[in-house]
Amino acid sequence: MRHPFKTFALASCVLSLLLLTSTYAQKHSPQPQSHGIAIANMDTSVVPGDDFYLYANGAWIQRTPIPPDRSRIGVFSKLADLTEKQTKGIIETISKSKSAEGSETRQIADLYASFMDEKGIESRGFAPLKPHLEAIAAIKNKQELARALGESLRADVDPLNNTNFHTANLFGLWTAPGFEDSEHYAAYLLQGGVELPSRDYYLSDTPRMQEVRAKYHDHVVAMLKLAGFTDPEARAGRIVNLEHSIAEKQQSLADNEDIHKANNTWKQSDFAAKAPGLDWKEFFAGAGLDKQEQFTVWQPAAFTGESALVESAPLEAWKDWLAYHLIEDYADFLPKAVADEEFNFFDKTLTGTPSQRPRWQRGIGLVNRFLGDALGKIYAKKYFPPQAKAEADAMVANLIASFRKRIEALPWMAPATKAEAQKKLDTLYVGIGYPESWHDYSGYEVKADDVFGNVWRGDLFEYHRQLKRLGAVVDRKEWSMSPQTVNAVNLPLQNALNFPAAILQSPFFDAKAPAAANYGAIGSVIGHEISHTFDSEGAAFDEKGRVRNWWTEADLAHFNAATASLAAQYDTYKPFPDLSVNGRQTLGEDIADLAGISAAYDGYKASLGGQPEPVQGGLSGDQQFFIAFAQNWGGKTREGALRRQLMTDPHAPGQFRSYTVRNIDPWYPAFKVKEGEKLYLAPANRVRIW
Ligand SMILES: [Zn+2]
Repeated sequence: MRHPFKTFALASCVLSLLLLTSTYAQKHSPQPQSHGIAIANMDTSVVPGDDFYLYANGAWIQRTPIPPDRSRIGVFSKLADLTEKQTKGIIETISKSKSAEGSETRQIADLYASFMDEKGIESRGFAPLKPHLEAIAAIKNKQELARALGESLRADVDPLNNTNFHTANLFGLWTAPGFEDSEHYAAYLLQGGVELPSRDYYLSDTPRMQEVRAKYHDHVVAMLKLAGFTDPEARAGRIVNLEHSIAEKQQSLADNEDIHKANNTWKQSDFAAKAPGLDWKEFFAGAGLDKQEQFTVWQPAAFTGESALVESAPLEAWKDWLAYHLIEDYADFLPKAVADEEFNFFDKTLTGTPSQRPRWQRGIGLVNRFLGDALGKIYAKKYFPPQAKAEADAMVANLIASFRKRIEALPWMAPATKAEAQKKLDTLYVGIGYPESWHDYSGYEVKADDVFGNVWRGDLFEYHRQLKRLGAVVDRKEWSMSPQTVNAVNLPLQNALNFPAAILQSPFFDAKAPAAANYGAIGSVIGHEISHTFDSEGAAFDEKGRVRNWWTEADLAHFNAATASLAAQYDTYKPFPDLSVNGRQTLGEDIADLAGISAAYDGYKASLGGQPEPVQGGLSGDQQFFIAFAQNWGGKTREGALRRQLMTDPHAPGQFRSYTVRNIDPWYPAFKVKEGEKLYLAPANRVRIW
C-alpha cells in the first residue's frame, strides 16, 4: 500500500482495519484484569433478542470515548495496544545496540530513525521529490506518458488475501498463484487511478459525497500550492475531472469480489486490441514486464475504459494527475505542512478523526510495512513461546475436526461434493504464530537520513521481489501477514491459513479463561478463517487452490440460494437513512462469520467431553460462548469512517457481524429469545449454509 497510515480494506481476514492501539482506552476501562467474558462491558438492561450487540457491549460503549487520534476503537484495542508496546520495545532496544551495517536490525533502526528525524525532513523540503517532478514535467507526448505510467506500477493491490483493491496508480500488480495453474506465480492486473477510497466517492450523489468532493478539490489545490505549482486551481480542476472519468470506468467492489468475473486471461499482445489508447508496449517496458506473456485482467471493462482515457484526455491533465499523485502518495514523508494537509483531508475530513497518531506509532507502522518479517522474527521469538503455539495448534485442530463433522452431516450436500470439500481440508496448510521461512531484505537500501528514499526504494524493492517470482514454483507456506499483526487470514490460492502470534493473546485467547469464552472469541475467529475456504469466493477453488467447479449442479444451486438469502438479510441493516450494508459486497465475510461460529460452537461442545457447562457470573456456558462472540465485534466508529467502511469494505460493521447469532438455533434457548423480538427469526428463515 502506498498509504501506510490510510488503512484500506483487508478481505479474507477477520478484521477490516487493525483495531489500532490506544493507551487512552485502557485508562478509561474500569474493570480489573479477569479471565473469560467481560461482564463489566455488558448492558443487561437490553433484551438480548432485541439487540444482542448492545446487550454484550453496551456498558463498554457507554463509558469508552473514541480517542482523538482514532477513527474507531474496539473492545480488544487492549491487545493491539499491547502488541504496539511490544514492538516499540524491540525497536528501541535495537536502536541502542548499534548493529552492524547491512544487518536487518540496522535496517530496522535506520528506517525508524529516518521517520523520527523531523528536523531533517523539514530541512530537505521538496528536494527529494524534485527529480521525480522534473521527469513528469519533461514528458512530451503520450508515448512518454505511457512509459511513465508503466514506471509507476507497483505491487500495491491484493484482491484475495489482504483484500486491497485500491491503488491510486493507473493500475496495480499482484503476483500470486495462477487461477488455472496454482503451482506457479502469475501476474494479475487491477484497476486503479483515483485517490479517494472508491469510485462511489466520485459517482454518488448524496449530499455527504458532494460535500466530500468539494473539499477534495480544495485539498488538491492546497497540495499543489504547497509544492509550488503555478495555476493550482486550474490544475486541480483537471485532476479531479480526470479522476472522475476514471471512476466512471471502474467496476464496483461487489463485482470485484466475484472470482468468475476476474478470471480473464489476456496475452500481452491482446492489450492493444482489447484496450486501445494506452501505448502498451511502452507501458510494459516501463513496468519491467515486457517479457511477461500472459496476465489475468481483473476488470477488463475498466482496462478498456481507462486505456481509452489515456488517449482522449489531454496530456497536460495526465501530467498534473501524475505530479499530484506523487505528492499525495509520499505526503507522510515530506515536510509537516504537507503531511498535515494530507491528514486533514484523508483522516479529518473523510473519517472525522481530529488528531494525528503519535509519531512513534506511525514509525512502527512504517517498519511493519517494509521490514515486517525482520521485526516479526524477533517479535515471535520473544512473545510467542512454544507453549502458546502448542495450545493454538490444538484449538485449530479441534476446529478443523468440527468442520469435517459438519460437512459430513450436511443434509443437502451430495457425497461427491462432500468428498471434494474434505479434500480441501486435507491439503489445508495452517500457519500458526509465525512463518517457517522469512523474507530476505538484503538488497533493500535503508538510510537513517532519507525517509523519502527509504519509502521509494522500499516500494520498488517489493515490486521487484514480486516481478522476480513470476513463473516460479509457488511456496504454499508463504505468509501474507507478519506475526505482530492483530488479525488472521485465509489465502484461497494457496489453500492456507495464517494465524499471527499477535492475535493469539488475551482477550482473544487466554489459557486461564473458560473454554466457552475461548471458543466464542478466538474459536470463532479460527472458524471464520477455515470457513473462507468454503465461502462465496473460496468455494470456487479446489484442494490445490485452482479455480475449478467441484460442485454438483444441485449442491451449487442450494449453496447459491442459501448465500443469496444471507445477502438479503444483511441488506436490511441500515446504519444511516441514506446508506445500508451491501449484502453482496459483504457476503464472503458474512458466510465465514456464520460458518465460523457454527464450527466454534460444535468445538466448544466437544471440548466439554460430557462435563457439565461451567457457570460464570450467573451465565451458562452457552451464554458465555455467544457473549464472547459478540464481544469480538464491540466497537465505536466515527461517522465518516463508518460510511467509508460501508462503501469500501467487504466486512460489515461489527454490530451487524454480532447479529450472526440470530441464525444459530442454540442462541434462542440460551437467551430465551421470543417471537416479536427484533432479532428473532423463525426457524425456516434462519440461514444455514455449512
Ligand atoms: Zn474474513
